[in-house]
Amino acid sequence: MAYSCSTESDCIKLRLYGVVQGVGFRPFVAKLAAEHGILGTVKNSGGCVEIVACGQALSLSAFEQALFAHKPNHAQIVYMEKEILPFRDYTEFSILPSDESTGRIFLPADLPVCDSCLVEMEDPSNRRHLHPFISCMSCGPRYSVIERVPYDRDTTTMCDFAMCEACNHEYTNRADRRYHAQTISCHDCGPVLYFKDTSGNISQRAEALDKAVKALQKGGIVAIKGIGGYHLACTPFDQEAVERLRRLKQREHKPFAVLFENVRSIREYCRVSEQEEALLGSPARPIVLLHQGKKRFAPSVCNKSRFVGCFVTYTPLQAMLLKRCGPLVMTSANVSEDPIIKDDEAMFAWQSPLLSGVLYNDRRISIRLDDSVCKITCGRELVLRRSRGYAPLPVVMQGKLHQDTCVFAAGGHLKCSFCFANAPFATLCEHMGDMDSEQNAQAYQENYKRIKELFAFDPKLAICDLHPAYFSTGFAKTLGLPTIQVQHHHAHIAAVIAEHDLQGKVIGVAFDGTGYGTDGAVWGSEFLVCEGDGYKRAAHLKYVTQLNGDEGMKDAKKSALCHLYAAGLESEIDDNRWPVIKAAIDNKVNVHQSSSVGRLFDAVSAYLGICDYNRFEAECALTLENLAAEASEQNVDPIPMAFGIEEESGMLLLDSKPLWQELFANKTKDLRALSLGFHTAVAQAIIDSCIRLREDTKSNTVALSGGVFQNEVLFTLAVKGLEEQGFKVYTNQAVPQNDGGIALGQAYIALAENN
Ligand code: ZN
Ligand code: ZN
Ligand code: FE
Repeated sequence: MAYSCSTESDCIKLRLYGVVQGVGFRPFVAKLAAEHGILGTVKNSGGCVEIVACGQALSLSAFEQALFAHKPNHAQIVYMEKEILPFRDYTEFSILPSDESTGRIFLPADLPVCDSCLVEMEDPSNRRHLHPFISCMSCGPRYSVIERVPYDRDTTTMCDFAMCEACNHEYTNRADRRYHAQTISCHDCGPVLYFKDTSGNISQRAEALDKAVKALQKGGIVAIKGIGGYHLACTPFDQEAVERLRRLKQREHKPFAVLFENVRSIREYCRVSEQEEALLGSPARPIVLLHQGKKRFAPSVCNKSRFVGCFVTYTPLQAMLLKRCGPLVMTSANVSEDPIIKDDEAMFAWQSPLLSGVLYNDRRISIRLDDSVCKITCGRELVLRRSRGYAPLPVVMQGKLHQDTCVFAAGGHLKCSFCFANAPFATLCEHMGDMDSEQNAQAYQENYKRIKELFAFDPKLAICDLHPAYFSTGFAKTLGLPTIQVQHHHAHIAAVIAEHDLQGKVIGVAFDGTGYGTDGAVWGSEFLVCEGDGYKRAAHLKYVTQLNGDEGMKDAKKSALCHLYAAGLESEIDDNRWPVIKAAIDNKVNVHQSSSVGRLFDAVSAYLGICDYNRFEAECALTLENLAAEASEQNVDPIPMAFGIEEESGMLLLDSKPLWQELFANKTKDLRALSLGFHTAVAQAIIDSCIRLREDTKSNTVALSGGVFQNEVLFTLAVKGLEEQGFKVYTNQAVPQNDGGIALGQAYIALAENN
């Protein structure tokens, strides 16, 4: 359509923030401009897309609407700035070179292979037939290959691969679906697939794939280079193979995730709701914890868990592999809690007779990313581990916040993640794991430096936990910035407030394993009335003396001894360590006061003989929960039990003594009924306390946070019970409920404007 500028024409500048780079946004804008008779320019600027659009007022507003309505598949506009410019007579609409001007920087998360690419990959007449690295404008690796901004081919690890003529033609052809697609390649110019067997023999391309498939089919374990690091894979049907994988990882008990070709094949093993199906197929392609059905894998895959972590293939290579091998156990290649291996040399250095070979390629991984883990509980989508597919998308913080100040929030200790926040955006670092691992602590420091530089963050303030021994606390204090220390459970609740824009007084319930309290005790069952950046502790479990040290956290039997003693049930203790432990408690040596509800779950699980040692985090609580879930499903009535509630100088204290008396009186009864009784009592204590706090605060808003709420039975009972009482119940959804989410809360507390 011919278009000539008239005097009624306007000129506007739009700056679009969010994921607008690497998703074909500029060509999309150019096409849209042509359709609406708009002239001007579009370019990547720092991390946003800047559009100068000139045209008739009506066309401009239609163009603006269409930007949002028809944006490319995986684009995400977080917000838009608009400016009126003096009219300028453009002769065309052009895509300008990227400009590196600073400003807010947003980078895309990795994207799963799209359907169009899969079709091409399977088409023998296509020049990318069986190309394991096929990608286009709307799919392929993104964050994991980025080295600098702005996102362009030569700022990613794809810069190692010069495009061939055919690829370059697609890249420069505006009508092509690979126009300006930074990660494209083909058999002639792209990364090459290799397989290295145990004797060091290397094969490549189709032969490499064949060898890996054969090794997997024979029950071998193959290391496979993925998007954010290496996976270790084996068939989930061969118990011996899965056991071998556990030995290789030195992780004896934690459940493994299973990768499937599609949701249809998942349904053979698990119940999948519509909401779960949507989550499985979402761009992040997270591992989704699903309830197991009748058909089972080898028992070692899930071990004691009643959930199976399932996910759907997200790379072309995975799609090819699974087509030939069927579902595969896929677990990150690392020892125990160390960071996932991303570099080839590190993978090759892992020599083990348990490993059948390494399937790799010559595309470097820039950023290490684990698979993300999610689940749906009470119709709410919860993220348990926020990494590939989510990182580095910002979480938008709601509410009245100080603008133009960048802050660094250091996070927690276990399941650690930090964030840089510049209202209203918080950029969380991908999941890093347990900071007791030296390698994780090392990764933390590297990630701080990398993310700070990549996003050009310039923090003026550091926020960290109160706990003096957290690695993250120590790190924050080395930055030479003014530092604020924030109470752990306050940060948990503030993260919920930040996400959901909760106004006024909020009754926060933070239930977890441990958090350093302002009185030097270990907190972990906190009812905090929060408002703005402040809080008041209003209720908690009555303190029980617990033993210091990590072993006290793992050894649930020790927690049980402490609880039994506190409940006046010393006669129930049958443990040859007791005289020493009793002396420690009586003489207050190497002990602390604890309101941890996590320890209470451990203690009950151990006392009932269900599980008495946490070989992985929360194993005792998980096995207790399994029995409670079984009781619910089989309509077994819970054995009634309850906490006492007392008030002491304005503080509600939940006393577990009466509950222990009931456990003692009924200990020979059905364990399922006892477990469900216990879960019901904890939920009821939450509901009763919130009702009492509502009287004082006049607040109907409850925020639930903390790792203990990952317990589905407890979370469901608490949410339903609170809702029945007329409460509005919120929890973390964009960030984990566990300590992976507290950095967001820390940042919010620092940025919240005082009331
Ligand atoms: Zn594609
Ligand atoms: Zn090519
Ligand atoms: Fe916590």
